[in-house]
Amino acid sequence: MDDLRYGTRDKRGNWSPNQALDIAPFWRGKFGELGPWLLGYVWPHNTVFMLVTLAYWYLVLPSWDTMKTITAGWVLLLLAVNAAGIFVMYGSVELFYYTRRKQGTRFKYNPKFPDDQPSDMFWFKSQNIDNFLRTFLLSIPIWTMIEVFTLWCFANGYSNWQTSDTSWPWLLTLIVLVPAIHEIHFFCGHWLLHQGPLYKWIHAIHHNSNNPSPWSSMSMHPVESSFFFSEMMWHLILFSHPFIALFQLTGTAYGAIVGHIGFDKLELTEEGAMDSHAYTHYLHHKYFEVNYGGDGLIPLDKWFGTWHDGTKESDELMKERFRRKKERLKAAQQAGQPETSVSQQN
Ligand SMILES: [Zn+2]
Ligand SMILES: [Zn+2]
Repeated sequence: MDDLRYGTRDKRGNWSPNQALDIAPFWRGKFGELGPWLLGYVWPHNTVFMLVTLAYWYLVLPSWDTMKTITAGWVLLLLAVNAAGIFVMYGSVELFYYTRRKQGTRFKYNPKFPDDQPSDMFWFKSQNIDNFLRTFLLSIPIWTMIEVFTLWCFANGYSNWQTSDTSWPWLLTLIVLVPAIHEIHFFCGHWLLHQGPLYKWIHAIHHNSNNPSPWSSMSMHPVESSFFFSEMMWHLILFSHPFIALFQLTGTAYGAIVGHIGFDKLELTEEGAMDSHAYTHYLHHKYFEVNYGGDGLIPLDKWFGTWHDGTKESDELMKERFRRKKERLKAAQQAGQPETSVSQQN
C-alpha cells in the first residue's frame, strides 16, 4: 500500500497521518459520526479482548471453590497462560513487523527500528532484550499477582458481586463502560507518574523507549506495573461481576500493545490494512507531556489542555505550554534562591 496516500513523511523520514486525531463524536456534538465510531469502538480491539476474556473464563479459571485458597497450582497456571498469551500476541506483531519487517517502514511513524539502535540506556544495550525481560520477569508476574488476589477476593465474598439474573442491565452497561474506566484510571495514574521525582524514579524506565515497539508495552518499573494492572480491583468496590473484572484486566494487559505498535496501519493483504490506533500514545512517547490518556473516549487530555491531535496547531500550542512552564520554573527557582545567588546569576 502507498502510505503517502494517507500521510506525509518529513525530511528525517518520520511519517504522520493526514487525518487529525479526534475525541469521541458525542463530546463534539457530531452524532452523525456515531455509527462508524461505534464500529471502531467494538471492532477489532474490544472484540478481541472479549474473546480472550471468554477463553480465560471458560478454559483457564479453576472453580470458585479452588480460588478460595491461593495455591501454587492455579497461580502458576495463570502465570503460564498470561506469559504464553503475551508471547503469542505481542510476539506475532514483533516477528512480522519488526523482525521480518514485512511492510518495511510503510506507515511507520519513526523510520528507525529499535534493533538497529543499540543504547546504554537498556539492559545489554538492547531495547528489545531489555523490554522483553522487564515484561516477562516483572510485569507479567505482577499482573498475575493482582489477578489472583482479585479472584481470591471474589471467591471469598470480599466484593460487591452482582448476579446476572437480577442485575443484567447494569452489568451490561458496565461492560460497555470498561474502556472508559480504563481511560480514567490510566490518565490519572499516568499523569501522576509524570510529576516530579515519580517520573525520574519510576516512569522514566517506560519512556526510555521513545521509539516504542510491541515489547515496550509492558516495559515498566514494578510500581508502575502495580498501578497499571490494579484497575481490575475497581470491580471489587463497584457493584460488578468477576467476568467484568477479568475483561477490564484483559483489556489492560493485552491492550497495552495498542499504543506501542509504532505503525499507523498494519498491512494484512495487498490492499487491506488494520488501523492500529497507536498514534495518540506514540505522540506521548515522542513529546512526553501530551496525551496522558487514550483515544479520547473520555477526553481528559482535551479538558486539561494536554491533548495533541498530531496537527501543526497542536504542536504550536504544546510549544507555548512548554515555554510557559519553563518560565514558571525559572521564576520559582529564582524566588527560592537567596538574593545574592539570583543577582550572581543575572
Ligand atoms: Zn507507553
Ligand atoms: Zn508517560
